[in-house]
Amino acid sequence: MQEVDVIVVGGGNAALCAALAAKETAKRVLVLERAPEDEAGGNSRFTAGLLRIVYNGPQDLAQLIDLSQEELERTDFGTYTAEQFLDDMARVTEYRCDPDLTEILVKQSFPTALWMKKKGLRFTAAWGRQAFKIEGRFKFWGGLTLEAVGGGPGLVDSLTASAKKNGVEIWYQARATALLADDKGVHGVVVKHKGKTTEVKAKAVVLAAGGFQANAEMRARYLGPGWELAKVRGTRFNTGDAIRMALDVGAAPVGNWSGCHAVAWERNAPEFGDLAVGDQFQKHSYPWGIYINAAGRRFVDEGADFRNYTYAKYGRVILNQPGQFAWQIFDAKVKSQLRDEYRIKQVTKVIANTLEELVKKLDDVDADAALAEIKAYNAAVRSDIPFNPNVKDGRCTTGLAVNKSNWANTLDTPPFEAYAVTCGITFSFGGLRINTDAQVMSTDGDPIAGLYAAGELVGGIFYFNYPGGTGLTNGSVFGRIAGGNAAKAAVSESRSKRVAGT
Ligand SMILES: Cc1cc2nc3c(=O)[nH]c(=O)nc-3n(C[C@H](O)[C@H](O)[C@H](O)COP(=O)(O)OP(=O)(O)OC[C@H]3O[C@@H](n4cnc5c(N)ncnc54)[C@H](O)[C@@H]3O)c2cc1C
Repeated sequence: MQEVDVIVVGGGNAALCAALAAKETAKRVLVLERAPEDEAGGNSRFTAGLLRIVYNGPQDLAQLIDLSQEELERTDFGTYTAEQFLDDMARVTEYRCDPDLTEILVKQSFPTALWMKKKGLRFTAAWGRQAFKIEGRFKFWGGLTLEAVGGGPGLVDSLTASAKKNGVEIWYQARATALLADDKGVHGVVVKHKGKTTEVKAKAVVLAAGGFQANAEMRARYLGPGWELAKVRGTRFNTGDAIRMALDVGAAPVGNWSGCHAVAWERNAPEFGDLAVGDQFQKHSYPWGIYINAAGRRFVDEGADFRNYTYAKYGRVILNQPGQFAWQIFDAKVKSQLRDEYRIKQVTKVIANTLEELVKKLDDVDADAALAEIKAYNAAVRSDIPFNPNVKDGRCTTGLAVNKSNWANTLDTPPFEAYAVTCGITFSFGGLRINTDAQVMSTDGDPIAGLYAAGELVGGIFYFNYPGGTGLTNGSVFGRIAGGNAAKAAVSESRSKRVAGT
């Protein structure tokens, strides 16, 4: 039987950060990645590589990004303080996020990004996605500024290269199926590597194998009826294996097991994510338009808040509509503001020169009801309030059953465009309970010796909703802590064995 110091289960951002941190102390670190090499990297590979971090001005960002004088002059980066990040987490999770873990997430966000940079990751600013140009200057609006160069693929490739360079061993097509455990704790993993089941012993194991969102049966079981019908935005490999393996040895479940991150996603997208398209099936410009469902009705406040604070919960709202779909409708006034993802070829899109013509083209929609709804919406817009995409402009509708709170533009300028969307699930929120050292806790309330966890499969951090860009930060912060502590535990176990042997 093979034996290593630390096994890391998973090959995404949390796992690679854990492996890199473990390798700072431990000699032999083995990553088990279920996917083949060309699909490796989990959901992390599908991301845009955006990381939500605390920064107190451009001087902090300049430690992470090579900013030219010209870039500094043409950009208002603003600040994103620890207080703002804590407030955002508390508000969007309806004050349920674990306070101790959240404080670590926030306070370690900047130092962890610096640490990732030292490990070889390159960063830039998300000018294209998170800033609008006003009077010749870019202004960041959502506290989300940092982006890995090359997006998710760049992030995974660079962390993988760094891990290999630092001597981390990676097995691909290596699916962990069970933990080797006894009353003293966890001692290794059962793994099916390229079709052959084998056991690998380790002094500590870090679980970083993602949530259960790619498992239709678990979705229906935990998220509720209808969730088996959602599309999976990312990897097909996150089927909840590591959560189950840990529960099997007595780990405590915690968090929002019926909750998840889910967004508006191209209606005809494939069952799982497609790396060639990445996150471009998402359709995130709804704050500039309106949603219409099969009954021809609006059903959600498209302008309730900045997109970063609503997109992750609106997937569920779409799933709950008849037929699990909706259309997003825009007019020519906002066309230039639609995100890049509206210009890919894999979209279900219709265009028309009149609203009458448009509603007839909306597949599976009650056209008469839709036309009446759009006219009622247009009449309710407070056009006296100026439109401003950089702030919550208060340009609202009044008197409707479902009002729009900000950015309410009338739909009056042809050509009109509509895009069909359904629900795309990103990741599940419920998972394993960890303590502040990233040790997995047992149902009896004690840490399970030798078992650590990080990333999507940890519960207790996100509930109901999520501030955009926190998933990667979460994986990086707790991956680093889990890997570092697992390695320290492994080294001290080796020492005590040596002492016992002398
Ligand atoms: C389309 C899309 C866009 C996103 N954009 C962003 C963004 O810009 N910013 C952001 O912060 N978040 C974003 N997210 C969320 C983000 O992807 C996740 O929060 C984050 O990547 C989770 O990291 P992780 O390491 O925990 O999981 P993953 O990156 O999913 O890694 C899990 C790994 O475990 C492996 N695995 C699964 N089962 C086993 C097993 N039994 N044995 C061995 N290995 C196994 C998988 O193959 C995978 O490598 C996005 C997600 C998607 C899908």
